[in-house]
Amino acid sequence: FQVPPAVNEPVKSYAPGSPERDAVLKQYRAYYQGSEDIPMVIGGKEVRTGNTRRIAPPHDHRHQVGQYHLATQKEVDLAISTALEARKAWAALAWEQRAAVFLKAADLLAGPYRSKINAATMMAQSKTIHQAEIDAACELIDFLRFNVEFMARIYQEQPESSEGIWNRVEYRPLEGFVYAITPFNFTAIAGNLPASAAMMGNVVVWKPSDHQIFSARVILDVFREAGVPGGVINAIYGDPVMITETLLSHPDFSGIHFTGSTDVFKGLWKQIGENIGRYKTYPRIVGETGGKDFIIAHPTARPRQVATAITRGAFELQGQKCSAASRVYLPKSTADEILSLVKEDLASFNKPGSPEDMGNFVTAVIHEGAFDKLAGYIDRAREARDAEIIAGGGYDKSKGYFIEPTVILTTNPKYTTMEVELFGPVVTVYIYEDAEWTNTLRLVDETSEYALTGAVMATDRYALEEATRALENCAGNFYINDKPTGAVVGQQPFGGARASGTNDKAGSAQNLMRWVSPRLIKETF
Ligand code: GLU
Repeated sequence: FQVPPAVNEPVKSYAPGSPERDAVLKQYRAYYQGSEDIPMVIGGKEVRTGNTRRIAPPHDHRHQVGQYHLATQKEVDLAISTALEARKAWAALAWEQRAAVFLKAADLLAGPYRSKINAATMMAQSKTIHQAEIDAACELIDFLRFNVEFMARIYQEQPESSEGIWNRVEYRPLEGFVYAITPFNFTAIAGNLPASAAMMGNVVVWKPSDHQIFSARVILDVFREAGVPGGVINAIYGDPVMITETLLSHPDFSGIHFTGSTDVFKGLWKQIGENIGRYKTYPRIVGETGGKDFIIAHPTARPRQVATAITRGAFELQGQKCSAASRVYLPKSTADEILSLVKEDLASFNKPGSPEDMGNFVTAVIHEGAFDKLAGYIDRAREARDAEIIAGGGYDKSKGYFIEPTVILTTNPKYTTMEVELFGPVVTVYIYEDAEWTNTLRLVDETSEYALTGAVMATDRYALEEATRALENCAGNFYINDKPTGAVVGQQPFGGARASGTNDKAGSAQNLMRWVSPRLIKETF
């Protein structure tokens, strides 16, 4: 069994004058001037209910660029029955056929759909072109290609046999349907969660975030054109409570593939528990949830390296990554130097603005709720006795949901923004006495309710070793002398433990194994 070797999709630069820049801007402007009417997709058919909600760019929230149709109970029921009907043929298909479909989808994204998926992600998720390119184009392409490679390896993994006895494993899909719930912040995750389950022969009911439907539409077009048969991936939009209750109380529910908040995931798990008597099979529960990701710098860390890790780790994509650096521990001896470098970085950026202006580093946060929450924490820090704002702190929602990259300095390592996940461009810094390094590691461990990502920075090898051991339960992705974001598929499989998820590493064979129910066959001759 050979599949084309997966290699990471090269990231395009979008330099001024480059054809890719012209193409993406042209598409962006077409979306801006147009009005997309986005249907659900059930059984390969476009479904419109006439009950719609508007789509507006977060950086220009009064300007409507489209609308999407909302499911009633009928469409949710239809999505389930259509999926189960499609399962028969899809599950019976040779895995090579399924692999080919998703490799084709990757090629479509890399070529003819690249500008579309990037422009859609810029428009409705307010990503800069560089953040869109590494996500909607490269990471999604990588997920598809690497997962096909992992899939091929899984199907080849067979037990020993002996004379007169042939043992073999059939990697069968789960019996039923998989429910994929995906977030707004990564188009790649939105595409990967349904695709990775489908690749292994499952049928999927997919509910994307309301704020990602604009680019979900492009993904669905790609899947259709690549040859994913109707009914294999069904997309429905609307009331999450009604949709989830219907799907999770169905006897054929067989697994959930989730990325989103910790609270929602815990709620889903509870609901699954309450329904456990109804199911034909124990469902697979796979979730990647919140984070409160740290950077801890040792006195021997290089100040420029730490500053870059903070600036990029905390503020790229407006800090709306589960992996974003949001609490930072700096040693007293180098803190001033590091913080002035961060301030210099921030001063060199444009004010938060539209992604259409390709020089912007920071755009808008996703919606008004996120904006209000962040503005509230900034206001409280301004008035707090144990915290102060040392950079940024401005916000304005008159046109878009703009929050300036903000650095809070606190004297209290348990200050609220050292503990609560904010999901925005706000980072909190605590300065420790150099001699307190070991105690500070303990503190980080004790305050790590989440365990998604974290970074330690030092040039002292003993300090790195000490931190790596002391923080072994604090991060599923642990970075040494780098920012804690930007995992690359095929290189850094991604996921965390504690309140951050089930740690079934996205972009790995381990994740794909959750979507199969292997049957061992022993045959004697
Ligand atoms: N995989 C992304 C990263 O490494 C984060 C994914 C997320 O925010 O859910 O930065």
